[in-house]
Amino acid sequence: MKLNLNIQPLNTWINKEGKQPLLIAGPCSAETEDQLVATAHLLAKTGKVSALRAGIWKPRTRPGEFEGIGSIGLEWLKRAKAETGLPTAVEVATAKHVEEALAAGVDILWVGARSTANPFTVQEIADALKGVDVPVMVKNPVNPDLSLWVGALERINNAGITKLAAIHRGFSSYEKSAFRNEPMWDVAISLKTLVPELPIINDPSHITGNRDLIGYISQKAIDLDMQGLMIESHIDPTVAWTDAKQQVTPAALSDIIDNLALRKAEVKNTEVKDKLAELRAQIDKIDDLIIQKVAERMTIAEQIGKYKKDNNITILQVNRWEEILKKTTDYGKALKLSPEFTEKLLELVHTESIRRQGLILNEGIEQPKENLTHA
Ligand code: PEP
Ligand code: MN
Repeated sequence: MKLNLNIQPLNTWINKEGKQPLLIAGPCSAETEDQLVATAHLLAKTGKVSALRAGIWKPRTRPGEFEGIGSIGLEWLKRAKAETGLPTAVEVATAKHVEEALAAGVDILWVGARSTANPFTVQEIADALKGVDVPVMVKNPVNPDLSLWVGALERINNAGITKLAAIHRGFSSYEKSAFRNEPMWDVAISLKTLVPELPIINDPSHITGNRDLIGYISQKAIDLDMQGLMIESHIDPTVAWTDAKQQVTPAALSDIIDNLALRKAEVKNTEVKDKLAELRAQIDKIDDLIIQKVAERMTIAEQIGKYKKDNNITILQVNRWEEILKKTTDYGKALKLSPEFTEKLLELVHTESIRRQGLILNEGIEQPKENLTHA
């Protein structure tokens, strides 16, 4: 299925100079005039940034957290823009935010993840945007619901906004993981499949919640052909009032961008995509899913290990292993995988499961190395 949205290309409203990658950066929150303006100057100096972001009104999950500096921050953004030449972007969550931001000359608006999850809020924002020509970016909703994301984009587009992009910032998940928000790349890919002309910008800051992983997720986003990055950057992240762990200094941001391997422009811009590149992209996505699933399997194996420990059961139960082997090789055969291949693959995975269970069973007991790697 394809969705019909009326969308103008990204370079009609941002990054006309074609910086690679397109980068929107700035602090999670505008905190003080000095913090915002000084950060903006350092970002502009990198020469890599196409727009300055800053949260003025912050939707915090819990009350009592910093909820944004409010309208005064718009004046600071004006100054930052006047001094650096960087266009500005802020999050809007109500009609009043839209009106104030537009009145203050903000160049780009975005709808936050919590707002996208609520159609009433999105409609209120959309109504406030009628008759206005301003670019709008829509973050994915907090929950992995493609329809909510699409619905929000449709509402904004129906209001006449054609300078439109999506921001992929990951999804909250009950399961513990290395990320603050699970990327669930397949949801973003589904959106792209549904609306191929819609630019998708990745937000590795909110996906990772951890500055050390931002480069890794940025690279992945580029490999998956996303159209740009939004990264939180603060002059001194250690003292940031919000999202301190995920913000990077402008210098660190510059290093992250320098270390990215960019995709070749000719593949990006040709109308008929190179078949090989397209197939490789599919393989990459599947590889990601395989690794993700193997990691999930390991987590469950560890839970089993804990259960075995609590109930005094041995790690390797031969019957169970034989049962898995038979069931899976049969399934593999039905899918045209040779039994030898399936067996080898399964053995590799199983050996690692056993090793991880061994670690749990022997927790606290000093073990020679070879005992831990059960063959
Ligand atoms: C933000 O961009 O600072 C923010 C609040 O993000 P999200 O809506 O993705 O949580
Ligand atoms: Mn933030």
